[in-house]
Amino acid sequence: MVHNPLRLRIDGDALVANWHWLAHRSGGADCGAAVKANAYGLGARQTVKRLQAAGCRSFFVATWAEAENLAPWPGDLELSVLHGPMAEDMAAAARLPVRPVLNSVEQVARWRGTARPCDVMIDTGINRLGIRPEQLADGLLDGLEIETLMSHLACADEDSSANRAQLEAFRAVAGTVNARRLSLANSAGICLGADYAFGLTRPGLALYGGVPRREAKGHIRQVAHVEAQVVQRRSVPAGERVGYGGTFVAEEACDLLVLNIGYADGYLRGFSSRGRAKVAGKWAPVVGRVSMDLITVRIDPKTKVGEGDWVELDYDLSEASVQSGLSQYELLTTLAGRFKRTWI
Ligand SMILES: *Cc1c(COP(=O)(O)O)cnc(C)c1O
Repeated sequence: MVHNPLRLRIDGDALVANWHWLAHRSGGADCGAAVKANAYGLGARQTVKRLQAAGCRSFFVATWAEAENLAPWPGDLELSVLHGPMAEDMAAAARLPVRPVLNSVEQVARWRGTARPCDVMIDTGINRLGIRPEQLADGLLDGLEIETLMSHLACADEDSSANRAQLEAFRAVAGTVNARRLSLANSAGICLGADYAFGLTRPGLALYGGVPRREAKGHIRQVAHVEAQVVQRRSVPAGERVGYGGTFVAEEACDLLVLNIGYADGYLRGFSSRGRAKVAGKWAPVVGRVSMDLITVRIDPKTKVGEGDWVELDYDLSEASVQSGLSQYELLTTLAGRFKRTWI
């Protein structure tokens, strides 16, 4: 096998520990897992396998293509497709042992003929996907076998009065609909407290190491570790510049490592002069611009490190989010295809 100078080390124990913390915070509710976008870039198949072993039973993807990629789906697990069925999806829906989340009057009509169970999304204020409460009049959902009636919070990561308003709106609708269980909270929603948990929670971000709110700080462990190999070590004389645009000027002679990672790998330009790597136990700052395939970090000249050594970048999601200006979600989902993904 050809050598790969870039790797994503995925800590399966941390993933499971995060799920256990979220399950505990969910009180008596079941705790599921959002594994859309290939489990936020980390690998949906492995994620499902690890979480299944830990006791997780309910999973969520965005599209039917994602559900198809996870086939054959284990019979003892549930998978729901968040975007629901468009006309083109009905063939896949007939084939796959998974449930749609019905998001509109049109999707309800489309699904009714299958006589199969479904989930239903109610829009309580995000105005993205979901049936509006006033559309439930005239028995829209009568006769459907609804497993999970759900809604989605728009501002759960903030201390916003919108959270309580959505909770109340969801409660009001839930009282009028016949469903096996209710679900409202994503990762941040779980942190809002037991009121928000209902029968099932649906975390994504926090499973993968994101800290959605302060309540989770110190409890969520980093899952994705970004490691790049040193391509070169070089010395820069005083007064010279480094990288595209020469944005870093060496005020004094300094030593750099050139690392095999760049914006094409998802280490985006927001990390220019802001990111950092751990080199022999010390932080080494990114100097100059992030290039497509390379970055430069400044090291202590005494450090014994050079070509071929491996270096871990600071990819603690809340830290890296501040450094780069990207959301924790984007930090995960942009990590692109060139990594060798290794689960530990
Ligand atoms: C993505 C998603 C989730 C998970 O959200 P996180 O913020 O990543 O925890 C839950 N529910 C729905 C409907 C989603 O789209």
